[in-house]
This record gives sequence, C-alpha cells and structure tokens, in this order.
Amino acid sequence: MAEKILITPKSFKNYKEHAHKLLHDQGYEIIENDSGRTLTEEEIIEAAQDNVVGIIIGVDPLPANVLNQCKNLRAISKYGAGMDNIDLKRAEELGILVKNAMGTNSISVAEHAIGLMFAAARHLPTVSAGVKAYGWDRTIGFELTNKILGIIGGGQIGKEVAKRAAGLGMKVTIYDPYFKDQEFLEKYGIHFEEELTEVLKESDIISLHLPATEQTKGLINAETLKLMKPTAILINTSRGELVNESALYDALVNHEIAVAAQDVYSSEPPKQGDPLVALPNFILTPHIGAYTHEGVERMAMVSTENLIELLAQREIAR
Ligand code: NAD
Repeated sequence: MAEKILITPKSFKNYKEHAHKLLHDQGYEIIENDSGRTLTEEEIIEAAQDNVVGIIIGVDPLPANVLNQCKNLRAISKYGAGMDNIDLKRAEELGILVKNAMGTNSISVAEHAIGLMFAAARHLPTVSAGVKAYGWDRTIGFELTNKILGIIGGGQIGKEVAKRAAGLGMKVTIYDPYFKDQEFLEKYGIHFEEELTEVLKESDIISLHLPATEQTKGLINAETLKLMKPTAILINTSRGELVNESALYDALVNHEIAVAAQDVYSSEPPKQGDPLVALPNFILTPHIGAYTHEGVERMAMVSTENLIELLAQREIAR
C-alpha cells in the first residue's frame, strides 16, 4: 500500500498545487481535510489508520493518546510556529520526528499585532460600528508615537513587532529571559528589561509573543493585570492560554486596564454568551494573525519541504 500524508490545515488548500506536486513526486498519496474545520482526535486517529507516515498539522490536536494510535506515523510537520497542540515528549519517545515552519508567518502576525494596537488606540471597531448604524460618535483616541511598548517574548514575531514599533517612534522594551541578541537591541534602539513586573508597570501597550507552556499559561492574571497602568492596552496574538480570561474580564470592567485586543482565545470560536467577548473594550479577531496570502503560501511550502526532509531522515536512520 502506498505511503500517505495527512494534511489538516484548512487554508493549505489555497496553495496546494505546488506542495501536492512535491509530495506526489516522492511517491506519497495525500489525504486532505475536507471537513472545513479543525479535525477531532478521533478523526485524526481514523485517517491515520490508512498507512499515514506523515502529517502536516495545523492547530488540530496531537496529544499522546492520538500519537499512540497512529501506528505508521514517522514525521509531523507543523504548518506554522506554535507546537503546543503536539505532545512533543511522546512523539520523541515514539521516534516520530517533528519540525515547525519557523519564521514563515512572523511578518504577518507582527503586522496584525501592530494593527490591533492602532485598532485599540483609536477604538476602530466601536467607532466603525457606530457609523454603520448611522451614528457619528467621535471617541477620542491617542497616538502610538512616543508610547512605551512592552514586548513579552523576543523571538521571531516579537522582533518583527519591535522593529516596526521602533519605526513608528514608539519606545520599545523587550522582556525575554532567554534573549541573547544584543546586536538587535543596539541596531533598532530597543531597551531590554530583566524584570517582568517592571515591563508590566511601565508600558502603555503590552504585546505577548511567547509560547503557551506549563510555565507561561495564565501569565496575565489578576495579580499581573493589577500592575498595569489603568490606560494600558494588552495585545495577545500568541495563545489564549496565556491570559486568565475571567481576571481579564474583571480588569476591563473595573477599568484596571483600558483595552485588550486578541487574535486568539481559550475556545476558538468563543462559546455563545461569553461575557468577555461582549465587552466594548475587548477586541477579538478570529486567529487571522498568520492568515495572509503571503503567510499561507510560505507555510504551505516550508511545511511540505520540512515533511519531505523529515521522512528522508527516517529512511537514512533505518
Ligand atoms: P519564537 O519561539 O520565535 O519566540 C518565542 C519567544 O518567547 C522566545 O524568544 C522565547 O525565549 C520567549 N519566551 C519563552 N518563555 C518566555 C517567558 N516566560 N517570558 C518571556 N519570553 C519567553 O516564537 P514566535 O514564532 O515568535 O511565536 C510566538 C507566539 O506566537 C507563539 O505562541 C505562537 O504560537 C504564536 N503564533 C500565533 C499566530 C497567530 O496566527 N496568531 C501565528 C504564529 C505564531
């Protein structure tokens, strides 16, 4: 039976021709996700029974129990950067190789984070909805120039945000305990801060660009929100789990911070009647950070090339 590749991301289809050809040239058959949504654990297990040796995975779940049941699986290629949906430890134990498409969507996500800063500073969703209802309420906003931007996580996306914000005349600080690129800081005139509490206290805008791990989940909680300025804007284009949403609700209602703008959420889409989603000072976009023509094309090609490379390594290891 021919070896098969399961491709789960919905947006992969937009740029599939070239990617599919690369896989066919290697002799692989392709199983596409035709459901129009993220696959469930059961659906992945079922699809994988069909001699699937490689998966190009989006945000669909690959916990240990799923990996255990994908008997022929040898390689997982992440369509994007965040690998929090994959049990990396179990994959390693099972000898399944894993790689992400680092850097393919950094520019798209960084631009979206900057866009959310403008949307929050000028109340764009509310004022636009007002005009569309034939109102003319002019809510006063503020300039980003000279404001202090605290970037938490100075990796691929954090750095792209830092460069752009510095170009806008913002005063940029990075907090990242693992950051080592002194040259970058000097080149773009960016301040480095070793204490998270200082960044939270001093920043006008705080933008999250770190992974969701056991250590970072709930990093933004009742205690850390209280450190922020009452005028602060919180931007989250990383992962919903980084923010304790009930604490954020309280902080927004009690004006402990001014606005939160997120591209990610604990439940995507949010559950009907979620009180946080209804708040006027909470902006939410549907996980579109990486969803640009350029980002999707790069992710499709790089994740395909990565998978072929991983499966070739498997051949050598045999
Ligand atoms: P990256 O690995 O390049 O950078 C992450 C940075 O976070 C690293 O520099 C790391 O040292 C730092 N970090 C780790 N723990 C930290 C901590 N406790 N405090 C501060 N910094 C810490 O990753 P990236 O490509 O820049 O992605 C960043 C985030 O964006 C990830 O959560 C990823 O899942 C998310 N993302 C979202 C979208 C989207 O569509 N919205 C798309 C791509 C990535």
